[in-house]
Amino acid sequence: MTETQQEYFGELLLDKKIVSALHHMGFEEPSPIQAATIPLALAGEDIIGQAQTGTGKTAAFGIPIVQNITDRRGVQALVLTPTRELAIQVAEEISKIGRTAHVRALPVYGGQPIERQIKALKSGVEIVIGTPGRLIDHLNRRTIKLDKVRFLVLDEADEMLDMGFVDDIEAIMDYLPPERQTMLFSATMPRPILSLSKRYMKAPKTVAITKEELTVPNIQQYYFEVKDKVEGVCRLLDAEIEGKVLIFCRTKKGVDDLNIALSSRGYLVEGLHGDLSQNQRDRVMKKFREGSCEVLIATDVAARGLDIDNISHVINYDIPQDPESYVHRIGRTGRYGAEGVAMTFITAREFRQLKLIERIACTHIKRRQLPTADNVIERQREQILSKVRTVLELNSFAPYVPIAEDLLEDYEAAEALAAALKLGQEGPKALEAPAEEKLREDLQNTGGRPGMVRLFVNIGRSQKITVRDIINSIAIEADIPARDIGQISIYDRFTFVEVPEAAAEKVLAAMDRNTIKGYRVNIEPAKLRR
Ligand code: AMP
Repeated sequence: MTETQQEYFGELLLDKKIVSALHHMGFEEPSPIQAATIPLALAGEDIIGQAQTGTGKTAAFGIPIVQNITDRRGVQALVLTPTRELAIQVAEEISKIGRTAHVRALPVYGGQPIERQIKALKSGVEIVIGTPGRLIDHLNRRTIKLDKVRFLVLDEADEMLDMGFVDDIEAIMDYLPPERQTMLFSATMPRPILSLSKRYMKAPKTVAITKEELTVPNIQQYYFEVKDKVEGVCRLLDAEIEGKVLIFCRTKKGVDDLNIALSSRGYLVEGLHGDLSQNQRDRVMKKFREGSCEVLIATDVAARGLDIDNISHVINYDIPQDPESYVHRIGRTGRYGAEGVAMTFITAREFRQLKLIERIACTHIKRRQLPTADNVIERQREQILSKVRTVLELNSFAPYVPIAEDLLEDYEAAEALAAALKLGQEGPKALEAPAEEKLREDLQNTGGRPGMVRLFVNIGRSQKITVRDIINSIAIEADIPARDIGQISIYDRFTFVEVPEAAAEKVLAAMDRNTIKGYRVNIEPAKLRR
């Protein structure tokens, strides 16, 4: 761990175990909402926080709660959320924060079999994150006890009110001890929320992101609603971006992951974050300045104090946690009157955070669609044409003319040229059979019984995988009838499973890089030993 992290999160007087968990999560410094909320929460204050998804609000309440849980005497914190998706997301985040401190968090929501939740609740958890309806259900069945709850969080309170959960929320409050700390987070503060807080909170302190004057540079600003962010970056790099790009990720882990994803796709990228030594940083910056790397991925902390010009595009791979950070990030491009473009990726849930940034920074961020695969091809076409024209103009290809003439004896001119272009474009990859063809070939030789294909899965007995796990996962994920799955042989470190020939490609597509019982799966056609 570097000094800075300890200092940053350490300044909030957090337990070492929590600081270490935050380090593993790749957090470098508290977000503004965290810096404002955590000290108040640790001092025992009730809090009203104006914040939405994307600001780091979950950790803002999750960190002080985890810090305050020191024993295992039942459910001590309850978080109410409007939707199951949010319940799951919040539970995942709090579980990560609590991992080293061994504090357990469980999401409880409608739509999941209640028996499973009852069992999980019985096994003991300290923090429950639930949707109001399902919690009421558990309370009626007496399958959850809330008499030890010392912390209550109402997350996305305005959404819960909009969805008509007020009565449920009030009913749940009746089960809680009056001696407790309550935190309410909401993007907006309509009157019903304020009256709810008056009734149920003690002298709450309000926390909102500061609204100081921000000057937005005069550059083009766009946002993209994306599902697959890696694919989104690739599209932009392939179809339109020219010049140097600075990509911002929220965490160190985010920087590393994107660095690996883009490098393995052949882009010249470097990552920069707080864990690098000064030497490593210098090396990365040198490459970026000299142009041997065109894409730099960084956290906010790492980018601070960087002295780089000529950045044509800034991409906010993760939406900034506050408007100020947005303005700082995009100010990296368009320096000295040069044209600059800032592009922000958002997920559907982060739309409100985008609107807040627009409002506070007094700017307009235009919606755009990602370039299409056709745009990418069109650009490649233009680039290839222009490169070949340059070679023709330079007239420097004489040694290759006899080879071309040989080829023209056997092939049509367009075919021969196309093959040469492919080789020039793709290098040795052009010599391999196309992926689909190779897959079809591989599928013919797996040693499966007639009509079946045998697949190799990289997990087995050591991961406590059972025949039922394999059948269930494949049947559900690939959407094929369980009875169609053939023989399954489980070994210590791997498993063979037979599926019908007709379903093999579907199973591979659905299962590869998916998980079984939480284990990441590689699955491929089995190879026959010769
Ligand atoms: P939230 O606003 O709670 O939904 O959080 C949005 C995202 O920001 C989540 O992926 C968090 O893991 C991440 N995040 C929260 N706090 C920090 C931080 N201090 N540094 C970096 N990422 C954070």
